[in-house]
Amino acid sequence: MKVPAMQALRKTTAAAGLELVDVPLPAASHADETLVRVRATGICGSDLHVDDWTPSYAFITQSLPVTIGHEFVGVAQSGPLAGRRVVVRPSVTCGTCAACTVGNHDACERRTGIGMTRDGAFAPWVRVPLRNCVPVPDGLSDELAALTEPLSISMQALRVAGDVRGQRVLVMGPGTIGQGIAVLARRAGAAQVVVSGFDDAPRLDALRRMGFDALCDVAQTSLAEATTSFTDGQPFDIVFEATGVPETIQDALALLRRNGIVVVTGIHARPLSLDLTALVRKQQQLRGSFRPPESDWPEALALMAEIGDLMAPMVSHVLPLSQAHEGFALAHGKAASKVLLCPGDGDGDGDD
Ligand SMILES: [Zn+2]
Ligand SMILES: [Zn+2]
Repeated sequence: MKVPAMQALRKTTAAAGLELVDVPLPAASHADETLVRVRATGICGSDLHVDDWTPSYAFITQSLPVTIGHEFVGVAQSGPLAGRRVVVRPSVTCGTCAACTVGNHDACERRTGIGMTRDGAFAPWVRVPLRNCVPVPDGLSDELAALTEPLSISMQALRVAGDVRGQRVLVMGPGTIGQGIAVLARRAGAAQVVVSGFDDAPRLDALRRMGFDALCDVAQTSLAEATTSFTDGQPFDIVFEATGVPETIQDALALLRRNGIVVVTGIHARPLSLDLTALVRKQQQLRGSFRPPESDWPEALALMAEIGDLMAPMVSHVLPLSQAHEGFALAHGKAASKVLLCPGDGDGDGDD
């Protein structure tokens, strides 16, 4: 008998590149797991890093070969949410450490990552823990629901920054995380939100359609020059870094006021050399921001149900999984805002 197979986008070896290959359908082997029929999965900056095989993702080597894809929406097949559309938190807690046993899952330090160190959602089916599934409100599109994970990352960046009301905010990096931060900062009452990109026309254009007008591209000019027309040369109160390019932190500090805050969200492939004396004398703060508490997920979905129309321009391309390589090329070449792949469409989905 033929073993049912499906197409999956995988990292197969510890080197640059991804492969679209046939793999067996997964099976939910534990009562606390379900299969999810995947409907849409976003291509994330970290997926590009895994494709390029930058050093910050070498930690997945021991898990190869692995199907990537961690920003997704699909339909749960079993458990209390069977038949419902769900988004899935990609970070899987261990369930056995001291924090997990007292129910403090947010403090778990022994995690695996769906789409990083265990099979992910650039495939028609993915096996996930039931407790990672969060129901999607009716009426919220698959395209927006697939943005839940990055929006939760943006929510955490705002939390780390503190109160942004009345503050002059710079968001460096107009990708999905930066776009989400800009939306949330404006909503939280920032006096001004300036967004900078580097050779980023499609992503800045998405922001324009989301109602932002203080946008600049620093491919041809310096950040200081590019932003001064919006700020009249005044320093920023808060800078969010969402570029993944370490040197942008130096630019951020140079434009930041005394006692100002830089929130770093990028995953950086290289270390940074930094003038700490200037930072000390100006009492500037450098804060890292990463994973939000699990409780942010329903909040992110509710927020999108409320302001989804405003966020819709974030998604620029929706392609079948069979065009995964085209999708990655668009994302790599900065020719897209957000690219989603739909593994449920077309052939190779194990349904036949
Ligand atoms: Zn991501
Ligand atoms: Zn744990």
